[in-house]
Amino acid sequence: MNINAKPARRFANHVNGQDQDGRQGETFESINPTTGAAFGRFVESSPADVDAAVQAARAAFDGPWRKLSPTRRGRLLMRWGDLIADNAEKIATIETEQNGKLIAEMRIQARLVQDWLYYFGGLADKIEGRVVPLDRTSVLNYTVNEPLGVVAAIIPWNSPTFLTIMTVAPALAAGNTVVIKPSEVTSASAIELARLAEQAGIPAGVINVVTGGRAAGEALVDHPAVAKVSFTGSDGAGRAIAARAGQRLVSCMLELGGKSANIVFDDADLDQVEAGVLAGIFAAAGQTCIAGSRAYFQKGIYDRLVGRLIERANKIKLGDPLKADTQMGPVATAAQLAKDESMVARAVEDGAKVLVGGQRRRVEGLDDGFFYAPTILGNTKPDAFIMQNEVFGPVLCVTPFESEEEVLALANGTRFGLAAGLWTADLRRAHLMARGLQAGTVWINTYRAMAFNSPFGGFKNSGIGRLNGAEAIQSFLQTKSVWCELSRDVQDPFVLKA
Ligand code: NAD
Repeated sequence: MNINAKPARRFANHVNGQDQDGRQGETFESINPTTGAAFGRFVESSPADVDAAVQAARAAFDGPWRKLSPTRRGRLLMRWGDLIADNAEKIATIETEQNGKLIAEMRIQARLVQDWLYYFGGLADKIEGRVVPLDRTSVLNYTVNEPLGVVAAIIPWNSPTFLTIMTVAPALAAGNTVVIKPSEVTSASAIELARLAEQAGIPAGVINVVTGGRAAGEALVDHPAVAKVSFTGSDGAGRAIAARAGQRLVSCMLELGGKSANIVFDDADLDQVEAGVLAGIFAAAGQTCIAGSRAYFQKGIYDRLVGRLIERANKIKLGDPLKADTQMGPVATAAQLAKDESMVARAVEDGAKVLVGGQRRRVEGLDDGFFYAPTILGNTKPDAFIMQNEVFGPVLCVTPFESEEEVLALANGTRFGLAAGLWTADLRRAHLMARGLQAGTVWINTYRAMAFNSPFGGFKNSGIGRLNGAEAIQSFLQTKSVWCELSRDVQDPFVLKA
């Protein structure tokens, strides 16, 4: 037992500006993956709890939020961004204590969301309709882009604040209200964000948080007053959610998993490549949707580059993610650790060769932490399970290739299409490859970059819709076409005019 362990904290739902315990009294505990000790106890929300949150969001939508001018709505989002940035250290710490990712990364994300709230706050009063030049010149026809109502935001654990703001910033800027269902692994920061929103002046009920697992998520998707579901998470859950929402004829935005290719040509700058490939997979212990988990190296540099990566992987310092000198923390849950182990074991059965890692790691003083060694596998066949399914752990598969055509076919040979990286000094080749890659984001001579004003989302099974950029706002609006006859002519329905 860790005698320094803090007592587990208790958290309530945040509904209509207030803490709300669950109506049925059920709770669940989340675990700190670094220590294996309890982090906190949260409400396991029932359908009645979810209903209270959706009702509050609907009342805020019909009431104070709708009455605000778009400019004022935008300003409030910006002020919220300022408060989140001011509280970045606190938010980052509770996230690291729940998902085990490096404090430096969580801190950057908690600070960066201010830019997202400024950008989308700035767009709030730039949502315009248009006048349509109809053939019937006596009619004035114009469009109005209206908010949908209550948006459900279902969020995963890997970057909780960042992904929450990526979703709710455009939804709120468009004039909707939201109910957030954070992951059961990382529920605490969403509650903190909602509190800060009200301190910033955003009316109570505009942002509500219900905690819980899959059942709470399902109750939210099923709720008749939820007008849109925005889901970020695994492709399996995304399918289930889209099917459920489809039963109610409600649209879904889906940001799902990936099996992204990172392609290196012989002429690339190997120092840059080494940093990019490592950042693509071992930063965040591979727990990022855009992980560059399939690497393809051209034959001329394959051996040299693999050798360099093995050397670097061996030196990565695993440890407490709250410490500044730690380079990789634990994986987030015991289930994720078991998944890393079983997927590597299956890959080996399928013929893969473990080049480095391939097992759990014991970290001095953190015996109960969920640590997995940075792992590189060679000889993985294109159709092997590990090459076709997301591990979401620090596992890189490396494959040699010869030609552009060959690597394009290999890179595109999965059901996913979230992102891809390519490294080359040849401009023509870079852009031809970018054109051929089936992915929502293509990085040339960089990896794992993202910005508030550049659209992000998946091709194929990696998602539907886009977050970030002006496109994101459109996902949370519906268009109304208004027709107004200006002439006083009588249009007899039984007398057809040519
Ligand atoms: P997950 O799919 O298990 O859970 C995500 C969220 O959905 C959680 O809040 C969970 O409680 C809820 N949920 C799960 N099943 C549900 C159901 N049937 N109905 C309603 N709600 C349900 O994912 P995770 O393990 O938390 O996160 C990891 C996954 O998220 C990875 O696949 C990763 O690639 C993906 N991800 C995608 C993006 C992106 O932008 N494309 C970003 C980050 C993570």
